[in-house]
Amino acid sequence: MPDVKSYPEALQRLITYFGHLPGIGGRTAERLALSLISWQESELVAFGTQLTNLRRDVGFCPICGYLTNGSEPCRFCSSSERDGSIICVVEQVTQVHTIENSGCFKGLYHVLGGKISPMKGRGPRDLRIAELRERLDGGAVKEILIALSPDVEGEATAHYLAQEFAGAGVALSRIAAGVPVGSDLSFADAATMASAISGRRRFGE
Ligand SMILES: [Zn+2]
Repeated sequence: MPDVKSYPEALQRLITYFGHLPGIGGRTAERLALSLISWQESELVAFGTQLTNLRRDVGFCPICGYLTNGSEPCRFCSSSERDGSIICVVEQVTQVHTIENSGCFKGLYHVLGGKISPMKGRGPRDLRIAELRERLDGGAVKEILIALSPDVEGEATAHYLAQEFAGAGVALSRIAAGVPVGSDLSFADAATMASAISGRRRFGE
């Protein structure tokens, strides 16, 4: 962090908060905070209101775990235009954007909230796997497409899901190679993701 002690304390605190954001270094945090000084009062109030209400206004879909308004079902789960026979399982909400940008998936999503990681003390029960199983009740779901990053934790999680849902009466598939091994799917480009989804294969093939 640059030395910001000559600034008023309120500004120092603001710089500290900006510095907590991912990818924001000390200099950038300082620049962002300073830029707010020139904002109109009304803009600052509006910005502050967004932050104050963030927890209330943005929640997680009770069905799939994606971001939504408050606590209502998200725009995918409440849409009649999505294909309810296929659910794409991802780690985090950011990967939903990656897949949507590819434009080649029209089904529903399920956000696990992470991957199985003994190193981080995260087991299957810490992920939204029970919620996924509940979604199979009713028989509308015919296929689960596993779209996890091709790293060690992603592989372990994919194999766990394959075992867990082996007798559940749904086809299990996973996105094709093409996403580089060890990469984070959140940063895959749209074309790579499109070919990975269109080339998906049955689990175990
Ligand atoms: Zn949803």
